[in-house]
Amino acid sequence: MIKTPEIFARIYARHGHRCPMSTLGGCLGLAAMKSLGGSLEGLQAVYSNRSCALDGIAETTGCSEAAGTLVVKSDGRHALTLTSAETAVEIELTAQTLESAGRYRLLCDRLERGWDQLAPEEQIRRRAEMDAMLDELLPQFWQAEAQQLVQKVSK
Ligand SMILES: [Zn+2]
Repeated sequence: MIKTPEIFARIYARHGHRCPMSTLGGCLGLAAMKSLGGSLEGLQAVYSNRSCALDGIAETTGCSEAAGTLVVKSDGRHALTLTSAETAVEIELTAQTLESAGRYRLLCDRLERGWDQLAPEEQIRRRAEMDAMLDELLPQFWQAEAQQLVQKVSK
């Protein structure tokens, strides 16, 4: 199994669990910080969806809802806009990436149904099945971030 890169380990610690969307939020944040370049003064982040991605974005950009520098504007997309005093960049997840993340969601929906009524050993078995899918899926996100994002720079 591939070791979790340090930045993603920090995201999962902040977020409380491993999942595709916190990972992809981290990918968005890392890519946005990289393409923004220059001064990071007055950094502002806008994300278009309230999801697990917010913790990944917060950890990688330093923006946070508490500080008022991370704002959620729901428009049904999965796009991060990062703005500094000098420039702005918008990064969006590709449909294919969202589909991979969605497969994990479907698996969880199926395996978590009636969870409280399951025998403890069955819960352990199902938890292992979900973990196995994460072990396969997350390294793909860590390693190939560029292909999973659509980028636009403006201003
Ligand atoms: Zn999550």
